[in-house]
Amino acid sequence: MSGNHHSGSAVFVRCMDPRLTESDEFNAWAKNEFGPKHDLISTAGGPIRLMSPDSDAYVDLGISLHHHNVSRIGLCLHSDCGYNNEFHPEEVSTPEREHAWMNYCFHRAAATIRQRFASATRHVAIEYYYATIHPDGSVTVDRVPAMTVEGNLSADNIQPNIKGIEPGTKRVQTA
Ligand SMILES: [Zn+2]
Repeated sequence: MSGNHHSGSAVFVRCMDPRLTESDEFNAWAKNEFGPKHDLISTAGGPIRLMSPDSDAYVDLGISLHHHNVSRIGLCLHSDCGYNNEFHPEEVSTPEREHAWMNYCFHRAAATIRQRFASATRHVAIEYYYATIHPDGSVTVDRVPAMTVEGNLSADNIQPNIKGIEPGTKRVQTA
């Protein structure tokens, strides 16, 4: 976990999972990382909801960007997420597939944010975090390095690295 070395306000986007929201250590980490008065977007799946430009989460993010002078957007995914288990069970069926899916979610969400708020996000840092919920209930958070995206950072240039996945598509288990 890193300290808060940043200036400017931040908006933190994370899942509403109570194993995170009621974790003292997770909340203490967020406060330290994003400041005691950061904006918070708490929704099922967290940043996954920002992959679709039509998501209601964009109402919240728009307030942060247009009215709260936000200079950082922290996107936090987490292990064993109920949103993935419900809507993307195949994508998280193995650790390797989950890793690829998480990378795709981060990039798709970031690209969609940039596309939706092109002028407002020009000087906004988008940061990736991954929270692991351990069997004993403890939570650790890792910062995920941003990966380079080829070409323009637009949603159309981010292709899923797992064939056939469309964000927000409910998949039906046939097995
Ligand atoms: Zn979750």
